[in-house]
Amino acid sequence: AVADTCLQHPALTDEETMTHLLHRQIHGSLPVAIGGKGIELIDAGGKHYIDASGGAAVSCLGHAHPDVVAALHSQFDRIAYAHTSFFTTEAAERLGDRLVEDAPPGLSHVYLVSGGSEAVEAALKMARQYFVEKGEPQRRHIIARRQSYHGNTLGALATGGNEWRRAQFRPLLIETHHVDPCFAYRFREPGETDEAYAARAAQALEDKILELGPEEVIAFVAETVVGATAGAVPPVADYFKRIRAICDRYGVLLILDEVMCGMGRTGTLHACQLEGISPDFMTIAKGLGGGYQPIGAVLLGRQIFDAFANGSGFFQHGHTYMGHPMAAAAALAVQEAIHRDLLLDNVKAMGGRLTARLQARFGNHLHIGDIRGRGLFQAIELVADRGTKEPFAPGLKVHAKIKRQAMQRGLMVYPMGGTIDGACGDHVLIAPPFIVAPHEIDTIVERLGEAVDAALRDFEI
Ligand code: PLP
Repeated sequence: AVADTCLQHPALTDEETMTHLLHRQIHGSLPVAIGGKGIELIDAGGKHYIDASGGAAVSCLGHAHPDVVAALHSQFDRIAYAHTSFFTTEAAERLGDRLVEDAPPGLSHVYLVSGGSEAVEAALKMARQYFVEKGEPQRRHIIARRQSYHGNTLGALATGGNEWRRAQFRPLLIETHHVDPCFAYRFREPGETDEAYAARAAQALEDKILELGPEEVIAFVAETVVGATAGAVPPVADYFKRIRAICDRYGVLLILDEVMCGMGRTGTLHACQLEGISPDFMTIAKGLGGGYQPIGAVLLGRQIFDAFANGSGFFQHGHTYMGHPMAAAAALAVQEAIHRDLLLDNVKAMGGRLTARLQARFGNHLHIGDIRGRGLFQAIELVADRGTKEPFAPGLKVHAKIKRQAMQRGLMVYPMGGTIDGACGDHVLIAPPFIVAPHEIDTIVERLGEAVDAALRDFEI
């Protein structure tokens, strides 16, 4: 029925959409999405795709959720936009209340923005301004981790841990330094316990702080569970407790980037809840609005808020669309539906099923080196050789081939290339909507298995 309704609308042809959109250059020819319902998207030819990646871990409620659609209509009928220097709105205020109510301990204030990069950029600036207000303007270094992604605006780009993304934009606007992530499959020594590895991985941060001079470091930035760049990499137990202690020892602020892994994706509302720590700043986006509107936020603590309030009186920042009522209304409706329908329970249950199905299908696969993740945020990593963990040569673009094969089979997953330094192989992120049903998990893994095998067969691997 959905497809029928969609097909009544004229859709643009591929040629018509090719002409002007710069972003199309990367992906070339693409199907035209004209509809969606639940966990499926539908293209102009009437073909259905299971959205097993939620786009890029965005669509946590699936598509055309009636509550969100109704909330948006209702907000639109009242007020679509009011500039934040003149007005506040009920939607923005209620969202702020809700985010603080559900925040990790110590996070008491919210700064609303329009996406993930903006959230990271704002958090970096808040951290810098905090130290200026405190009379410590010499603090200028940001430390982050390799194999991480924090966005594409210049500050967020400098913070991310892939040199190939940054190289052509040097000199960068802020001073960033990188340490290895906590990535057991790639960096744990044979025979090393979780405890020993957590200590060694966290020590890399302390060493870097001491090398730079603790009084000159602003913040450490990390994704609680690493997303797209390395593929759903959870930390080992106690790593973040040690990181929190190191940051506290040197007065360095901790920024956790939960733009991708947050807002329920890993089974708890915030991924850091499982780590038993709170950051000084947390960035969220993607699942916050579930893709229904562009929205992101920074959560911050009272000490930061007070430093601004008692210092210059404001945070020196701002965007025209921050606190947008349509975006806030969408986010509120998404979060209310997740809460009311107990969807985090489904994330845990379906996450368990997904792990089991992936293990059954790929556990003995010659070219799958690792299966990892939490909740509905999981990945498989491809390797040329399971014994040595050697990745496929980047030039083969195995990830792109898998994506094509999956799309042919009506499956959206999120494959990414390995890192050029070989510290991570091609991987495929699986992040379906929280409403996914058991039989749909089975179909996702079935189609993914066929797509991976077909892609490797094409290389005669
Ligand atoms: N931080 C993380 C961890 C992300 O995964 C992303 C996007 O993928 C961003 C920041 C940037 O978010 P956006 O693309 O909404 O600007």
